[in-house]
Parts: sequence; C-alpha cells; structure tokens
Amino acid sequence: MLFPLAFAACDHDRNSAQASDQNQAAKIAEAAPISFPPDAGPLPTFDGNRAMQYVKEIVAFGPRPIGSANHKKVEEYIASHLKGDAVEDDMFTADTPEGKFPVHNIIAKFPGAKDGIVVIASHYDTNYPLRNTSFVGANDGGSSSALLLEIANQLRGKPRDGYSVWLVWDDAEESVKPDTELPFLDDSLYGIRHLAEKWQADGTLKKVKAFLLADMIGDADLNIDRDLNSTPWLEDTVFEAATRMGYQSHFFGRKNQVTDDHLPFMQKGVPSADLIDFDYGYNNVFWHTPQDTADKLSPKSLEITGVVILETIRILDKMEPLPPK
Ligand SMILES: [Zn+2]
Repeated sequence: MLFPLAFAACDHDRNSAQASDQNQAAKIAEAAPISFPPDAGPLPTFDGNRAMQYVKEIVAFGPRPIGSANHKKVEEYIASHLKGDAVEDDMFTADTPEGKFPVHNIIAKFPGAKDGIVVIASHYDTNYPLRNTSFVGANDGGSSSALLLEIANQLRGKPRDGYSVWLVWDDAEESVKPDTELPFLDDSLYGIRHLAEKWQADGTLKKVKAFLLADMIGDADLNIDRDLNSTPWLEDTVFEAATRMGYQSHFFGRKNQVTDDHLPFMQKGVPSADLIDFDYGYNNVFWHTPQDTADKLSPKSLEITGVVILETIRILDKMEPLPPK
C-alpha cells in the first residue's frame, strides 16, 4: 500500500490535505442519502481460519517483490487455488526506474446472470525497496490476497443471480524506489494501471459497475478508514453492508485520503472503494517494516472484511438503478 495524502510529511501538505478533506467531507454531507434495497435471503459466509492459513502460506515464501523467484512461487500458489475456475492472465513488462520487470495480474471470473461486473482487487507483491530484508507483507499484500482466495471458495460452484464477480490479484502495486522518492503515481500501481487501460481499450471497463479494493485488512485491531479518494455512495454501501453484518464499529472511525490501486479505476469513472486500515500498529508503525508479520493479524478481521465485501455485492446486485457516478 502507498502513502495516503493526509499523511504527507510537511505541514504545508498536511494543511492542504486537511482543507481538501474538509471540502470532500462537505460534498459527502451534501450528497443526497441513497436508499438501499431491503435485506433478504441468507447472509454471506466466510472462513476466517482458512483465509488466515492462506496468509501464513503466502508469507512462508518470504519477500515476494517483482522479478524474484519467490514472486513466481506466489503466482503459482494463487493459480493452484483457482484450478477449474475461469482464469485470465494479464502479463506484460513494466518499465520502471529500476529497469524492466515482468508483471502478472491474475483474474478469476465468476459469472452472474445480471449484465455487469463487480471487481474485487488486491495486490500480492511486496515492497521492492525492502526486497533484501525480512519484509514479508503479511498484512500489506498477504492478508488481502488470502482474502480473495477465500472469497473465491465462497463464490465457486454457486450460480449467481447478480453481477459477475471478477477477483483480481494485481501485481507491482508497490513502488520500486523508496516511497517518498518519486511521485506515487509515476512509480507504483503498475499492474492495475495496465489492467484499467487494457479494459478501457477492449470495452470491458464499461461493464464494471463497481471496483472494491482490499488492502491491509488483516490487522487484529481492525479499523477500516473512510477513504476520501473513493466514491462516496459506494463507501456508504460498504457501511450499510457492515451495519447489516453487525460490524459497523470496525468501519469508518477515521477518514483518510489514500493513494492506492483504486485510483486508475476512479480516474476512468468507475465507482470505487478502497477498504483499508492504514493504522497498523500504533501510528502505523508496522507498515513497510519487517514487523509486518502474521502474528499481528486475526482470522476475525479477515472474516469481517470478507463478509462485508460479499454483503456489499449482495446489496449492489439489488440496487436499481445504481447511483450516478
Ligand atoms: Zn505496501
């Protein structure tokens, strides 16, 4: 995961971020409340223990920066869990400040009867500048990639009345230079930028009704931020889902403004929401450090995020029409 603008280093930036935060908050306050379809049918389920096991297996490969042998092993690990599913590989070479790297987005498609697609995404690479350390990204990249594997288990073999759900394990989200060295959008999000452009060119993007991003959602002390770079009505829908599942106390206690994989889709007009808890340890002290290990996470946090994402999709399936972008 990348820097949130609101955490910028100097006072000037911080003040600007606060001003923009207030403007955005005012806009949210002005937006007409949306009405949600009535709750009906069985609530979603999610196996948090199984997802936690996946996290442990992913981090056991060690650091997995782009171009590494461990990265290749994790690509194969993800693919091995999707045998029999409709999987598309989006592979290309990224030109980065550290040279050319192979990048591999993995997309698993679960078809629905309704016209349109909901995308759920997570990056799986680890921070490149930390490649020679013991940084394994248990929360950052590991938790959300495991979450998507368990969501695949929940979707597999069940006919869907609603939208198609496409799970995207995207690659090369992390910068290859240290986080503060280059503008974030010039040196990061390589995989998802490529996918957004490809889908725009081939017409897929028009069918994407919502883009839900999960990042750093395994923290045992789970407090998912309300992200001001996300689509307000979609954030409201996530909160409605959290409320229906009884987990609203884990959502939106803080506001933040996050630069993350949802931005290329936001910029292309796709309603997007970043589910991220960017307060990992006191003052986010474990982020991008070798302390980002599986013992800081909990199966319950994975379950909370998992069922809230699945419930969000259930609400979206029944919202007619979806709010304007
Ligand atoms: Zn990161």
